[in-house]
Amino acid sequence: MGLLPAAGNWLGKVVDLVRANCAHCDRSHRTVCPPGQADKTAMQILQGIAVSPGIAIGEALVVDNEGFRIPSRFVLRDAVEDELKRLDLAIEAVAGEIRHNRDTVTQQLGDQYGAIFSAHLQMLRDPMLHDELESLIRQQHHSAEYAVSRTLRRYAKVFQQLDNVYLAERAHDVFDLESSLLANLLGRRRESLADLEAPAIVLAHNLTPNETARMNRDFVLSFVTEAGGPGSHTAIIAKALEIPAVVGTGIFLADVSGGDLVIVDGDHGQVILHPDQETLDRYKQEIDDHRSLAQRLAGLKDQPAETIDGTRIELLANIEFPHEMQACLDRGAEGIGLYRTEFLYLGAESEPTEEDHFQAYAEVIRAMGQLPVVIRTVDLGADKMGQFPHTEEEHNPFLGVRSIRLSLRNLDLFRIQLRAIARASALGQVKVMFPLISTLDELRQAKMVLADTVEDIRDEGIECADSIPIGMMVEVPSAVIMIDKLVQEVDFLSIGTNDLTQYALAVDRTNKDMASLYRASDPAVLRLIDATLRAARAAGVTATVCGEMSSNPAHTLLLLGLGLRSMSIAPGALPEIKQICRTVSIGQCESIAERAMEMDSAREIDAYLQEQLRKVAPELVF
Ligand code: PEP
Ligand code: MG
Repeated sequence: MGLLPAAGNWLGKVVDLVRANCAHCDRSHRTVCPPGQADKTAMQILQGIAVSPGIAIGEALVVDNEGFRIPSRFVLRDAVEDELKRLDLAIEAVAGEIRHNRDTVTQQLGDQYGAIFSAHLQMLRDPMLHDELESLIRQQHHSAEYAVSRTLRRYAKVFQQLDNVYLAERAHDVFDLESSLLANLLGRRRESLADLEAPAIVLAHNLTPNETARMNRDFVLSFVTEAGGPGSHTAIIAKALEIPAVVGTGIFLADVSGGDLVIVDGDHGQVILHPDQETLDRYKQEIDDHRSLAQRLAGLKDQPAETIDGTRIELLANIEFPHEMQACLDRGAEGIGLYRTEFLYLGAESEPTEEDHFQAYAEVIRAMGQLPVVIRTVDLGADKMGQFPHTEEEHNPFLGVRSIRLSLRNLDLFRIQLRAIARASALGQVKVMFPLISTLDELRQAKMVLADTVEDIRDEGIECADSIPIGMMVEVPSAVIMIDKLVQEVDFLSIGTNDLTQYALAVDRTNKDMASLYRASDPAVLRLIDATLRAARAAGVTATVCGEMSSNPAHTLLLLGLGLRSMSIAPGALPEIKQICRTVSIGQCESIAERAMEMDSAREIDAYLQEQLRKVAPELVF
């Protein structure tokens, strides 16, 4: 809550401003539009960054007001009087709370501070606000919650748009008031994203990977965030959950209330608020199109990913949680190419023990039978810190104690994980992979700690595989520069294009304002990928791409042309990528890659690859 110098007339000024320009009809009047008119809330289309494909249509759950769900927009005609009573009771209760706070604060800190609450009271008691709420309930039959949320958000938006920074900050006071009224109307019930009880589209300013990982995927139909960049782990989790998601839309939460109808177009990064009937019908058709494509592609499950000229491509899956195994098996994954084990920390109430690690790995390995499982050691730090910080706050966390650096500085933590991996290696075909290797020393140290741990396990008489293949991620330019040496010391390489793009181009993968620069198809990144694939071939070592790039069908054409024969991708993307592999010849992909590698910019390359994709697999272009 902001500090006010006095309970002056800031509120009155803004209320006048709100009323000077009705959001519905551009006219000036004291209350809402007459019946019929106010319902015509204009459709609004927001452009963000598409991070997880598909279409979702549903009711909004706005998370910025502390997770309140506005249960229903409308009440029956004969419930209107009860609804008005509920509203009055809530206003009375909140006024009582505010008076109490005002008196306590005035007593402890003085009149100036108590004045903050007087301003809130003044707003709450404003007769015109009351008229407006009453009119929405009486004439539009809106529920009290919806009337409160919609009206106060409209006020808050006017505050936010004011040129005066001090008054713009007052939007928070209006949101505070909204929260207090909703808390009363909804009996202080708050829904955490993990405990939703009905389907919703989550709208938030930002979501951490941790919060996203805890979402109840049975009810979160989709999510949209004002902030967030294309390569964030929040975006990656959306793909794992197989829900459409859009990030980086910029500020819009004041334009929407819980319960409003929203469409999320995860294919094109669009969010449609208050859609009109025609738009709604078009998107319902698109949902049907997606469904029938998925049904057709489901038939490929047991078919090999083989190009038309007979080259076999290995299609592995990326997972974050053991519960994704079913999705991998359903899509015919040939193994797990990247198990992001740090999510064990992000989703947990307490720090995972060796047994917790072991049980999680055992579940995945048993589900895969004799198929390979690449367990990546924890990549904590940067945007994935969760509730167990192992580093101090850093100015540049993506350049700081992240990933293998964090493991090597916390050897107890590293050993716990390596012991669990060594034990789990007895259960199937386990491989270990170290993330963010940037020097030869780092790789050698990590290998040494692993060798020591395996020796300890054997000394303790615990069963363990005869040998555990060791791989490293290639996701820092220095690793590509040193790749001829690094490749001699590993059994396999996996190119992490998400980080490789970030570090090669010096672009924060989580920053929406840098999204246009963050492109894995940038010629500089492509040269790094090409160099890595060449070095791997020369050394006779397998190289996989496990960054999001390999989930993009247009990029698949290019990667196959550069000689890639193994990809690890989000389980949901497996059918489409298999379809592409089965549609093209290697010769065709080589000519595409040759042409793309001559181009000067990611924009040009992406346009060209999209055009090629449209030619070879038009059914995959939405
Ligand atoms: C990558 O960087 O491409 C990668 C696969 O790792 P993560 O996205 O977990 O950083
Ligand atoms: Mg990475």
